[in-house]
Amino acid sequence: MSNIFYRTLILPLYLSFIQINLLAQTGEAMNSAIKKIVKSDEEWKCDLTKEEFYILREKGTERAFAGEYNKNKEPGNYVCAGCSSLLFSSEKKYDSGSGWPSFWEPAEETNIISKLDSSLGRIRTEALCANCGGHLGHVFNDGPDPTGLRYCINSGALHFQKEKSPDNIK
Ligand code: FE
Repeated sequence: MSNIFYRTLILPLYLSFIQINLLAQTGEAMNSAIKKIVKSDEEWKCDLTKEEFYILREKGTERAFAGEYNKNKEPGNYVCAGCSSLLFSSEKKYDSGSGWPSFWEPAEETNIISKLDSSLGRIRTEALCANCGGHLGHVFNDGPDPTGLRYCINSGALHFQKEKSPDNIK
């Protein structure tokens, strides 16, 4: 009798406690991993354009095919418009046809944080800058090899740094 009591009540309770604890710890670790740069909204408004503030700080989305870098094929790096952290490389950019700059992998895995986003009645994965917590876009599972991922990123969250080559160094 006590064995059944243990298996049906105590054990599930104990396991759910461990699960919740682990989730909380993961959340805390994630929160401490992001937002190395912390600024007030007023400070961000001084440092960003209206469009950058709308995307990075208010989780906005630019119109499809309207962003500056959607069709950009120049070699170089894409850094965060909020903090200049390296996010993506042109070597991992591809044309997904979605209307937003698309990458199959970040330049540095640790520079981007993925987070569950259940807004708009959909379950999606949000991509955030690990350094300033700025919203970049979303990650989907319909990308090309080798990762199968599509980082669907707003141009307004990025600044492009053209690769320095003998032809474009001035
Ligand atoms: Fe950033």
